[in-house]
Parts: sequence; structure tokens; C-alpha cells
Amino acid sequence: MVEFASVDIKFLSGVGPKRAEILKKEAGIATYEDLLYYFPYKYIDKSRIYKICEIDGNMPYIQIEGVITDFFEQGKGKGRRLCATFSDKSGSVELVWFQGIKYITERYMKGKLYVVFGKPAVYGGKITIAHPEIDVPSNNSDANLTLQGYYNTTEVMKKRFITSRYIHKLIETLWSNRTTPLPETLPQYVVNRYSLISLHEAIRNIHFPKTPEMLHKAQLRLKFDELFYIQLNLLRYMSLRKQNLNGFKFSKVGNFVNSFYRECLPFDLTNAQKRVIKEIRADMGSGKQMNRLLQGDVGSGKTLVAVMCMLIAADNDYQSCIMAPTEILATQHYENIRRMTSKLGIGVALLTGSTKKSEREVICAGLLSGEIKIVVGTHALIEEYVEFRNIGFVVIDEQHRFGVEQRSKLWRKNDSPPHVLVMTATPIPRTLAMTLYGDLDVSVIDELPPGRKPVTTLLRFDNNLPAIYEALRKQLREGRQAYIVYPLIQESEKSDLKNLLDGYEHIKKVFPEYEVCMVHGKLKSREKDAEMQKFVSGEARIMVATTVIEVGVDVPNASVMMIQNAERFGLSQLHQLRGRVGRGAEQSYCILLASHKLSNDSRRRLDIMCKTNDGFEIAEADLQLRGPGDMEGTQQSGIPFNLRIARITRDGQILQLAREAASFVLDNDPLLEREENLILKKRLALLFKKRSDLRLVG
Ligand code: ADP
Ligand code: MG
Repeated sequence: MVEFASVDIKFLSGVGPKRAEILKKEAGIATYEDLLYYFPYKYIDKSRIYKICEIDGNMPYIQIEGVITDFFEQGKGKGRRLCATFSDKSGSVELVWFQGIKYITERYMKGKLYVVFGKPAVYGGKITIAHPEIDVPSNNSDANLTLQGYYNTTEVMKKRFITSRYIHKLIETLWSNRTTPLPETLPQYVVNRYSLISLHEAIRNIHFPKTPEMLHKAQLRLKFDELFYIQLNLLRYMSLRKQNLNGFKFSKVGNFVNSFYRECLPFDLTNAQKRVIKEIRADMGSGKQMNRLLQGDVGSGKTLVAVMCMLIAADNDYQSCIMAPTEILATQHYENIRRMTSKLGIGVALLTGSTKKSEREVICAGLLSGEIKIVVGTHALIEEYVEFRNIGFVVIDEQHRFGVEQRSKLWRKNDSPPHVLVMTATPIPRTLAMTLYGDLDVSVIDELPPGRKPVTTLLRFDNNLPAIYEALRKQLREGRQAYIVYPLIQESEKSDLKNLLDGYEHIKKVFPEYEVCMVHGKLKSREKDAEMQKFVSGEARIMVATTVIEVGVDVPNASVMMIQNAERFGLSQLHQLRGRVGRGAEQSYCILLASHKLSNDSRRRLDIMCKTNDGFEIAEADLQLRGPGDMEGTQQSGIPFNLRIARITRDGQILQLAREAASFVLDNDPLLEREENLILKKRLALLFKKRSDLRLVG
């Protein structure tokens, strides 16, 4: 017999094979259990019915009651839509549908009393509600509930009428079909110790909250559950590793480091850099394997720290690698490192996915012979075919895109795991970092190189352009340089590229007296280098570019960064871009150019940029602006796993609790062999089955 939880969703009444396919593809709902764990992303108070005269276009979701007085179609082709006039005693609004016109007209009647639910907006001077939910008042099964859960749906789902409401109904059906309570996922002693409600009650109340208090308890229980298993897995795995691992001992300070320090360093290290290098050196000389997180805001000089540590490794006859999330970043690092170490005569190589096969073979041979001491690369470095003579130190830049699994692949490239330094500009509070990454130690560069002035950031709109150009011209006249950035989400998107090329022509016309260069990802690397070089040398005073410069050039004389369509960039991307200016002695400016029609979220993002230069605040705000349903968001925020319900910034206390619970369990039963803990072992295997290759070193 198949267990209730693992029954295929297509067997639930109201689903069927076609919708099952969509649910699976779009929302990851394949089984009954997946559906029960598809939690609402928000709750709306449906106890209130508004009068139509009370509503305006800025309100969130609202509910009104009245009748449809008229149906009419408008527009042609793609713009074809069905409209309905919906009225109560106080006034009328327009309801609009862009799809499913036939279905709507067959289903709803003029003159019948309905409750309409949706998000009002102003369109052509009228208040309209697009794709509203419509229900008959008496038939409203949620009438006695105050809080109605809302479920994430994608465009594809909506097109097939798989709406939030539909999902809610499915869960209702599923819930009433069930004959026995849902089995627990935690041992009873853990549930009791932390005064949690049962899983059954929690799932019920997360979907159909009886009261706000019960909803709160349900959320607590489910967040705890989620974080507890992550902690349990992490702690179990860390203790395994600790038992097994000794580290390479780097005891020498040799020629590479000394000559670099004396001859190649163009500036003094900041105190923070010195402190951090000391911390790392102590670790690498201790005989224990190092696992360290290096945090430092954009421009704080993390690369230099990494380079010096790689040179320490080389002095001790060990190889190092530095792994970056993108090809551009890797290339950038490679070029920087080669330039910085050119006097040392040390073997440095670049290996990425697009390295030619013949070249790759040469590099692999150099790694195996030990001739190459430092290799810079992308994911390509963790491929099976990359073998080292003796790798002792691994640097991972912008860690958020590398999970534990990927790190572990690097660990296995030598008989014992190399030392690991993970560098990130995403500041995670120290306690959280420790909790999330287990036994990672943390170093912080909390000081920028001297002479940097905070960048002044301004939000401006298209109609301000003439004034902006004037201000820009003033800067240029004073000898400064400027970046003008265009969005290019996918380097292949034709319309974006056109946008950039048009922008380039436009800027050349506006500033005929200055040389303008242009850089984007479609250029051949030789062309790109030539364009970059023009800007670096100062020959070109304006650089029109895409986000390739996010990680690119370093020109202290550049004092203006103007970002076109700033609303199309994410917060951390804007912060990275802005980090390109403010590197010289002059006051620098970042102009965020946006269209007037900003969504609330975009508006908030841009306001945050104007308010602060602090990467920490920005990261925090970024996390809070993203909904919990935003899987990608969780991944980008530095957390190497997806969370369904817990929020790292807000749920720190629950995380601590879960951590304590997990270590309590493991202290008493390290291998989870006791009867009462079998449930844990089983569930761990289930939750982390994809990660079973995680166990390291035999
Ligand atoms: P990030 O921490 O963002 O990776 P980088 O390592 O790219 O920062 O450094 C940013 C810039 O600051 C580089 O141009 C680098 O050469 C420069 N830099 C690093 N350390 C110092 C220092 N101690 N003094 C002056 N400039 C420095
Ligand atoms: Mg960097």
C-alpha cells in the first residue's frame, strides 16, 4: 500500500493528469505531501467587505459585494479582454480578464449577488480589478475564517486556472479525505521539550488558521521542524568530519610571500587585512584543517588577502585554487593575480568551461606535475578530470552559489582535505554564519582601503535627464570619468542589446567632446580588453556597459555611476555596481535612473540604495523584501539550501532553538540509534537523500 503522503497528486479529485503535470512542473507539487507542504505566502483578512466608494488603486487585496451589471469585450488580438461592470449601492468598478473569456461568461451571470476579491488598480482613470476571484456569498466556505491563506502561483498556472483559491480548495479536499492524523516528524520528547504543537495541528492551522494565535503556533512548529533537520544534518556531519580530519601544516614563510610583500604590493595593507591574514595564517599553521568564512564589503580588498594566503601555500609547496561563480569573475581574478604576481615567476593558470580542450590538457598536466601553483577558475575546477599534485588551499569567492556538496568535492582532491577560505560580500551575522555553516570560523574585513568617500546615491526619473547630463558634464570637465550601465539580463536578449547600442549612440551624441567606449558580454575578449583599456588609460572618459563591470575594471578616477532602468536590477547587484565608484579621493555619485511607473517593491529597493552604503543593511533589506516563497532569493542570500517557511533574518531565535535541540539529541545519541530517534534517522535520509555523497573521507 502506498502511504497517504506519497500518493501522486493526479489522484486527488479535481486534479487529473494535465493539471498534475503543471502542478509538478511549476510548483514542485507531485504528491499529497508536497501539497500539504505548499504553504501560503501570506494571509489576508477576509472578514471585511469594502464599499466600492471606499476603494482606491493603492489598496492591497480587498473584498467587495455586488452584482455584475454588464459584460463587454475590448481590444483585439493579444490585447483582447473581457470586462464586466461590477456595482454595489455606492459605485462601480471594472473587472477584467485577459484569458478564459468563454469560461467566465458561461460561469457568471448578470444580476446575481457575488463577492469579488482582488487587487484594485487604476487603469485609464478607472478602478479595475484584473482576474478577480468571484464567489457566491452563501457559498463562501471560508466565511467563518478571518484569515485566508494565499498561495504562490505562476503565470502558467494562472492561465490554466490553477489559482491560489484552487490550491486552497485542493488542500481542503485533501484534508477532508484523510482518515488518520498526519504522522509526527519529531520524537515526542522533542515536541514536549520545546512545547510545540503536533505536526497535524500545525499543518491544519497553516492552511486554515482558526485564530491568529494558532497560526503563530503553527508557523513556529513548522519553522522549527525545518531548521531542526538542517541543524541535525549539519551537526552530525560536522562531528564526522572533525573526528577524521587533520590539516596540512603551513609552517614556512618563504620567498613568494616575502618578495610579494616587499616588491609587488602597490599600497599598504589595511589594518583589517593584516589582522585577517594573521588569523588565516595561524589557522593554516595549526595542523588542523581550516574552514573559514571571510566577510568584507565590496571593495574591501578580499582578493589581496586570498592572494597572500595562496602565496603562503606556495611557499610550503602546496597548490591553491580560487573558484569564482562566473566566467567573467574568474577571468578578472586571473588577470589581477597574474599582474600582481608577475615579478614572482609563479605558475598561474585559468580554467573555465570555455577553456579549449587542448589548452585544458596543458593546464591539467601542469596541475598534475605541480608546475602550476595557482589555478583560477569556475565550477570547471570541481570536475573529475582536474587532478592536482598537491592541493593545499582552496578559495571560494562569493560563496553563496556554492553549496556544501560542491565544497566537499574540492575537499576530495587530495588525500586530506585542503584548507578552505570562503569569501563573501554578503554579510551574515556571525552567530547566524556559525549556525548555518556549522563550524566555519569567521573573519571580517571591516575597513575599506583609505581615502574612500561614501558614494552619494540619487534616484532620478527620465524627465530629469537634461539636468543629469549637465551635472555629469561638470564632473567630466573637472577631469573625472563616468560609467553608464544598461541592464542586460541575458546576454543573448536582443532587445536589451539594442537598448545598449542605442544608448551608446545617444551618449556619443550628447557628449561629442569626449571619447566614449563600450563593453558588453557579446564582445570578443580582445575587443573587450581594448575597450576596457581605453577607459583605464583615461583616453575614454565615459564607459557605456552592461553589468560586466560589476566585477570588472577598477578605475579610481571614475566618480559617476549612472544606472539605466535601475528598477530592473537586484539590490545586491546595484550595490556591487556602485562599488565601482568611490575608489578615488573625489566625491562620487551613483544616479539610479528609473521610469515613473515603479512597483512598490522596486521603489523600496531604490530607496534603500539611496539611504545607505552599508552592505550589511542592504543584504538584510534584500532578504526581507523577498517573500519566503522566493526560492531563488533564498539561494542568493547566502544560504545553501531552500527554506519553505523559515526566514533566516527573522527567525534567528528559532534557529538557535533548533540548533540547541539538535545538539541535545546528538549528545545523547550520536548515531541516532535509539528507538525514539529512529524517526529522525528515517527523515534525515529522506530529506537529504540527494546529498548522500556528502560523507567525506573514509
Ligand atoms: P573585494 O573585497 O570587493 O573583492 P577587491 O579585492 O576587488 O575587493 O579590492 C578592491 C580594490 O581595492 C582593488 O582595486 C584593490 O587593488 C584595492 N585594494 C585592496 N587592498 C587595498 C589597500 N590596502 N589599499 C588600497 N587599495 C586596496
Ligand atoms: Mg571580490
